[in-house]
Amino acid sequence: MTSAPLRLPFSVGLTGGIGSGKSLVADMLAERGASLIDTDRIAHALTAPGGAAMPGIREQFGDDYVTPEGAMDRDRMRQRVFSDPDAKKQLEAILHPLIRVETERAAQRASGLYPIFVVPLLVESGKWADRVSRVLVVDCPESLQVERVMRRSGLTQEQVLAIMAAQATREQRLAVADDVIVNDRDPAALAPEVDRLHALYSSLARAASNQ
Ligand code: ADP
Repeated sequence: MTSAPLRLPFSVGLTGGIGSGKSLVADMLAERGASLIDTDRIAHALTAPGGAAMPGIREQFGDDYVTPEGAMDRDRMRQRVFSDPDAKKQLEAILHPLIRVETERAAQRASGLYPIFVVPLLVESGKWADRVSRVLVVDCPESLQVERVMRRSGLTQEQVLAIMAAQATREQRLAVADDVIVNDRDPAALAPEVDRLHALYSSLARAASNQ
């Protein structure tokens, strides 16, 4: 598996912890003309019935991990990879190259001013930071993450904290960031910073495509 840059003149990788406001910031940039590429959605499609990852998953893990409809059995696979690091690596070896191809293809088809890859686990998966031109991190205090996710999902505080414990820390994320948006106030307060970054990315994309 390679971590070579994508064959794109300019791209942004957007990440942040659960509940930080990634989707909110991504949507605001899309309203201004960026093209969003949602890596979670692509990963999901690859493991849906008929998805390109399904033959490899069936071969590696057997029919027990495939639903009658032909999708990956997500609950079962989640439990397996949680307790079996080798299985996690095997699954990633099937999925990651396909995700890379599909995301790059989606970016090449996109017609916006520049592509933004929304990658919840950008820091954890290690390779994305080298592939994109800039890493944008949406940041907020952990107490706000917990509050927002509890409100949105109905999960308990313990459940949200367990998800956060399995993700990179704020410090790890900020260490790879080229740009940071702090989302700790009213969503409307984000607009000036989103405008500034959009202007920066648009001009970097223009410069890169003129090279
Ligand atoms: P992520 O994609 O990082 O998990 P979202 O953008 O989905 O985060 O935001 C998580 C939840 O918090 C959503 O329900 C969203 O509407 C809400 N939210 C995001 N930013 C704010 C904010 N600044 N103030 C209040 N609620 C917010």
